[in-house]
Amino acid sequence: MHIHALIVAAGQGTRAGGALPKQYQRLAGQPILRRTLNAFSAHPDVTAVTAVIASGHDALFAEASAGIAKLSAPVLGGAERQVSVRLGLEALAPLQPDVVLIHDAARPFVSRETIRSVIDAAKQHGGAIAALPVTDTLKREAVGGTIGETVSRENLWRAQTPQGFAFDQILRVHRDFADRQDMTDDASLFEAAGYSVALVEDDVQNMKITRPGDFAVAERLLEADMEQRVGSGFDVHAFEDGDHVTVCGVDIPHTHGLKGHSDADVGMHALTDAIYGALSDGDIGKHFPPSEEQWKGAASSVFLEHAIGLVRERGGKFLHADVTIMCEMPKIGPHREAMRARLAEIMDVPVGRIAVKATTTESLGFTGRREGMAAQAVATIKIPETD
Ligand code: MG
Repeated sequence: MHIHALIVAAGQGTRAGGALPKQYQRLAGQPILRRTLNAFSAHPDVTAVTAVIASGHDALFAEASAGIAKLSAPVLGGAERQVSVRLGLEALAPLQPDVVLIHDAARPFVSRETIRSVIDAAKQHGGAIAALPVTDTLKREAVGGTIGETVSRENLWRAQTPQGFAFDQILRVHRDFADRQDMTDDASLFEAAGYSVALVEDDVQNMKITRPGDFAVAERLLEADMEQRVGSGFDVHAFEDGDHVTVCGVDIPHTHGLKGHSDADVGMHALTDAIYGALSDGDIGKHFPPSEEQWKGAASSVFLEHAIGLVRERGGKFLHADVTIMCEMPKIGPHREAMRARLAEIMDVPVGRIAVKATTTESLGFTGRREGMAAQAVATIKIPETD
């Protein structure tokens, strides 16, 4: 059975604030539209996904949809939502889907269960929508902002999306009602044509991001869904001739220097690798190959800034790092606070989220023989459960 999701993303909507249309604005690092497309693309019951977009948004769409599976080429919409949906349905006609799910781009939190329930009900009834029973008392306004009357909420529902329909029927009613512009959702057309539409109880998470305040609510919903990750890093550098070592961004006078391709900051390297580890995204060597001349003598802050930047790009949040330096000499303790402050500055996080510790190895091993220094680090982050 061919179940096709049609995502309506043709709005120019800037009511939510910001320079970009809201469907392209980022929510915890990802365009809203990308989250919506992914919700359908990842659903096992959905065969294919098509978006209806506004003209001039091709580049925005290409960026927002890169790499998403099951996605067909976008269709250009019209000035009104109803026109956009009709153009989208016309474009799907050659594919002859059995059921089409029409969904607002601005509802990125649609659940797997809601999608499945709407598909099942649409198969059974021909039409079905996700909806929420009205729980607030309803008032109709009279003149001057006063209440004219209280309206019974009995049997009242708020229509959401997705709305699922037998494809041939919804295409026909959209063609039949092409002249009417007073329909605010697709079920209205189906009802007007005399077909029955089933109500599928949705969950409140499936909110529509419309006003500026909705972004803050949406960010909190996402954060609640984030998972915690812990990464570890370990690094060693040998001593060589020199007069100072650089550890966690702080220069410490010493009888030797540290040997390395970059500034050989053993502490910052361990911490950077711990963050890459928490992201499951390689290590310093992958992102900054030692074979490339440009990283010779590089300040290690470049690596750390890159790793923390990846956390933020993925909509994640850095929680804590714990770095342990291993050496007999130089003494680390007197520089501990300067190291914490420097790491916090590079990462743009509060210093309370960074711990730096030091230990000798009781004269044992290479650090005990004063041949070099070692460091290990643990980083804890929160990251959205995404693709
Ligand atoms: Mg290193």
